Amino acid sequence: MVASRSARERKAAAEAGPLARVKIDLGADEQFVYKISCAECTVKGDRAWSAYRPGEDNGYMASMDRWIFHLKQKHPDADAPCLAYTDAAEQRLQERRQGLEARRD
Ligand SMILES: [Zn+2]
Repeated sequence: MVASRSARERKAAAEAGPLARVKIDLGADEQFVYKISCAECTVKGDRAWSAYRPGEDNGYMASMDRWIFHLKQKHPDADAPCLAYTDAAEQRLQERRQGLEARRD
């Protein structure tokens, strides 16, 4: 059975930790689009930080990876379950970079 959107939101929010605000939209192709924004960086003004990128892959994995890097950079003291996947996220980032370079040739 496919989990409902709100159940997915709760699961993603639990993984992303207390600083994250998770919202799931349905994309044009019926794909789930994960929008993770940072509660702290939003409150502080400037520009609200969000892991959502228009036109990019906003699946669970891609959004959570961007969120992990945000936590690492801006909130090194923050604790969140998703930080357990930091190594895997860094490896995926590396692979995406290599993939982009390969396509440029
Ligand atoms: Zn933040």
